[in-house]
Amino acid sequence: MTTTETTPTAPDTALQSVDPATGEVIATYTIADENAVRAAVDKARTAASTWGSLSFDDRRKHLLRWSSRLVAESDEFCALIHRENGKPLDDAYLELMLALEHIAWAAKNAKKYLAPKKIAPGALMSNFSARLEQRPLGVVGVIGPWNYPVYTPNGSIAYALAGGNTVVFKPSEYSTGIGNFLSEAFKKANPELPEGIFETINGLGATGAALVASGVDKIAFTGSTATGKRIMAAAAQTLTPVLLECGGKDAVIVAGDADVKAAADAVAWGATANSGQTCAGVERVYVDRSVRDEFVAEVKRILQDVKPGSDSKASYGPMTMPSQIDIVRRHIDDALKNGGTAVLGGPESIKGPFIEPVVLVDVDEDSEAVAEETFGPTLTIRTVDGVDEAVRLANNSKYGLSSAVYSKNNGLEIARRLRVGATSVNSVLAFAAIAGLPFGGVGDSGIGRIHGEPGLREFSRPHSIAVQRFTVPGMALLSYSRTESTMKLLRKLVPFLHGRHK
Ligand code: NAD
Repeated sequence: MTTTETTPTAPDTALQSVDPATGEVIATYTIADENAVRAAVDKARTAASTWGSLSFDDRRKHLLRWSSRLVAESDEFCALIHRENGKPLDDAYLELMLALEHIAWAAKNAKKYLAPKKIAPGALMSNFSARLEQRPLGVVGVIGPWNYPVYTPNGSIAYALAGGNTVVFKPSEYSTGIGNFLSEAFKKANPELPEGIFETINGLGATGAALVASGVDKIAFTGSTATGKRIMAAAAQTLTPVLLECGGKDAVIVAGDADVKAAADAVAWGATANSGQTCAGVERVYVDRSVRDEFVAEVKRILQDVKPGSDSKASYGPMTMPSQIDIVRRHIDDALKNGGTAVLGGPESIKGPFIEPVVLVDVDEDSEAVAEETFGPTLTIRTVDGVDEAVRLANNSKYGLSSAVYSKNNGLEIARRLRVGATSVNSVLAFAAIAGLPFGGVGDSGIGRIHGEPGLREFSRPHSIAVQRFTVPGMALLSYSRTESTMKLLRKLVPFLHGRHK
């Protein structure tokens, strides 16, 4: 029985949170309509003046208290993540751990990167002092996906809060309970703070659309490319800036000099962990002909023992979103129709909400299975003759989120040739666990960066201030009182400053 069949219907004003493994209803939430969204944004706007005027050290203290609260409640939280999202308890804990790393990084580094700086005014403006001050944007609307419902939105939430913004968060309709747990924990950890610093609103796409139109100062979206494009078009009406973290079709290059066993181990995990529902998960592999057979055999050997389920032995859980199952089925069928061979699994691997690993080789590069995001525990492997062909095929995608390279001698050089936002060398997905490294893509994978210094800057507005400290007689450049002799002096100075380079 599929989850779709067992999911009871809810009234239009209510949203049911459902266990994807069983279809059981976990909780029911009221959907925030336009008025409720505006009320949440108004509350966040009021709180923004308090939160934004706290010192970096004070905000750091409140954010770290929030982390500690999440750690204290981690058993309860991970049980909820397991139940609402389907992922195994250990994976839920790992996801929480990664999110905590980011909360800590943002809290501890906001001062370093966003504190006011003195800027050299230059010789011609030496009677000025210049300052660059980063201001919070105000209220940031965060719209999240369900696949990493704690880690992913926190790439925006924690960084926006650390920069002095308040946040209105619309979690995915498939992870409503998890989203609410996050903001409740923040409030419980910081009871002395006013309401509105971190609010969650519940609902489907329409609630997200209302948030985009609500007058927030930025939208930070993580989700599919199709929704990202709709959000950018809607945000254009009010020139609301957007940060878009969208889909991917990440490739792994396995060069002739790769440690084949290590590459196979990482690819097997990267393609199927979290049921393959990972934006930066492994979807395509380009393997050098010289190591192809050994690599394919090793991937197959590992994955034949990897099984989905919701028991404690399961390697990964069910597909969280029932509609994704049809997309995975379509991609497998399409791959097989387009010259591909399934060396492990096939259409029969889809068993209700669970999909066993599927490994497809020599699939046509134009087929959906290679060109579109599958977001399931499937993998395509193509044989290539050398690194140039591998790089060309890896880059031949409308997406450009991240990638990985396995090569003992040339990993860094190959990585530099890839048109993506991040690359792991001799590993997969490692960049996502290093909080100081920015994350985000090019092309259909999105706009802007979360994490690290660029991730803090996404949620701040540079404010340049020039202060005249004293006037220089006859040097009033920005005045009609400028004299002939000023211009004579400038005509001597400018060649000296800028005209001496041969
Ligand atoms: P989705 O686009 O269906 O939904 C994402 C969010 O957008 C949900 O909260 C949804 O309610 C909301 N939404 C839907 N329509 C909207 C509209 N018109 N206006 C405003 N909000 C709207 O994506 P999903 O299925 O939840 O997530 C899976 C996708 O997310 C995959 O494509 C995956 O690659 C991507 N993803 C990307 C990253 C990244 O960092 N690049 C991380 C995780 C997931």
